[in-house]
Amino acid sequence: MEHGAPKINVLMVSFATQGHMNPMLRLAKQLQSKANIQVTLATTEIFYHHLLKQNNHNVTTTTSNNTLSISGIDFESFPDGFDLDYDRKSNLNTYLDTLAKVGPTNLYNLIISLSTNQISPKKFSCIITSPFVPWATNVAVRLRIPCAMLWIQPCTLFAIYHSYYNNLNYFPTKENPHISVKLPCLPLLEASDLPSIVLPENPITGMNESLSQAVKNVDNIRWVLANSFYELEKEVVEYLSKFVDIKAVGPLVPPTVLLGEEHCHGNDDHVGINLWKPEDKCIDWLKQNKDNSVIYVSFGSVIMLSREQLEIIGKALINCKRPFLWVVKEKNYSVSEGAREFLEWFLDETKEQGMVVKWCSQDKVLSHKSLGCFLTHCGWNSMLETISVGVPVIAYPFWTDQPTNAKLMCDLFGVGLRLWPNKDGLVGVEEIMKCIEVVMDGPRAVEFRAKAAEWKNNAREVVVHGGSSDRNIQDFVDDIIQTSSAVKYNVDTE
Ligand code: UDP
Repeated sequence: MEHGAPKINVLMVSFATQGHMNPMLRLAKQLQSKANIQVTLATTEIFYHHLLKQNNHNVTTTTSNNTLSISGIDFESFPDGFDLDYDRKSNLNTYLDTLAKVGPTNLYNLIISLSTNQISPKKFSCIITSPFVPWATNVAVRLRIPCAMLWIQPCTLFAIYHSYYNNLNYFPTKENPHISVKLPCLPLLEASDLPSIVLPENPITGMNESLSQAVKNVDNIRWVLANSFYELEKEVVEYLSKFVDIKAVGPLVPPTVLLGEEHCHGNDDHVGINLWKPEDKCIDWLKQNKDNSVIYVSFGSVIMLSREQLEIIGKALINCKRPFLWVVKEKNYSVSEGAREFLEWFLDETKEQGMVVKWCSQDKVLSHKSLGCFLTHCGWNSMLETISVGVPVIAYPFWTDQPTNAKLMCDLFGVGLRLWPNKDGLVGVEEIMKCIEVVMDGPRAVEFRAKAAEWKNNAREVVVHGGSSDRNIQDFVDDIIQTSSAVKYNVDTE
């Protein structure tokens, strides 16, 4: 690291969810550790308020000069076009559309006001965007600031979307919904392996628009940084390199899962936001269980299960008679009729067998030696955390990238089995029980564990000094430093 040189400022613009923010924050930490770089993360006002109110054990917040700073990363905010008390989840399409309309001007004004701040003006040498704020790239172009995008899904998804939005391949249509897709760098993908966004019945049109812009706007993006690692998606990274300067810089996961909790005490690299307060009693409970024995069940921060789905999973867990830890979010108790009654009955019935919590420190849970497998919705953050700890999976994907992530985890990385729905479109009790037995016991369980252990080693090798992701981050930092002196804002004069 070069000392004495003026600080280089980098601006990150992130969609305000935990799954987008956390990889951004971890990348920010990496950049700051490699050079005299100060990262500022700009997000929506509502999320900024949430951060201010939050009292999270792994987040240290201080305010100085009216700037919120978390673990050395500065936070700034811009309005998203809605009042603070508006329920942004009530209509994601409306939300994304409005954000895309008002976001560019509000972000532009923020950047200009930071550059003219009387006390400590900031001029950014690079803007790093995330996929659901593709309009931030246009702001970077307008101001002539070099732009990168942190792609927070597997590179495979970038390849699929790139092909889909640029019409490079055929995809399922209303007339031909079951067609399978062959992309140059991937095995044949059935419709059930594709992200729901490219299917004819895709309900989230707002996301469609954002992703389309994100992958079509690549000419304006100098670097695509991917939260994955080269060894994990070699062929796809090679293929995408023909279109974009792609650098895999992951896994951007909590240090606990890469190093183990015993090596993380006082570790300043631990930066992340937790949406809800974790119930740490489950860690004590895990300690009472045998190695590789517990089934961990979680569906991430967004998916809400219906009462029927809750019952099916609950019955499968009871029937398999193994210890389990199940995360059922607070909101899931009231989201469908009868859910609370069932869960109360279930809690009582299984107090000797398992534990149900409303939220946990997933990094600590996954890295606990009592874990046997992870029954998961296959969100990419969870999958990278799982790969980093070497735990096999039972894949229960719902939508967006999750079906493709399930395909990768089970068929390409070889670390588990996918659950399939029956004729009614529901995954049944027997299907879950059957998969639990195969993944937990018998010859295939040994195979899955061995494969998971291989990936775990790989994940650790790529992030240490000289590993592929470490080198890619260093190359990116070197590029920013090299181009920084040439950056001159192109400010509109009206
Ligand atoms: N997570 C957590 N506690 C829980 C459940 C999930 O900390 O009880 C974290 C998990 O470690 C992951 C994130 O929430 O980092 C979920 O992100 P993912 O991409 O897997 O799914 P999403 O929530 O975006 O669907």
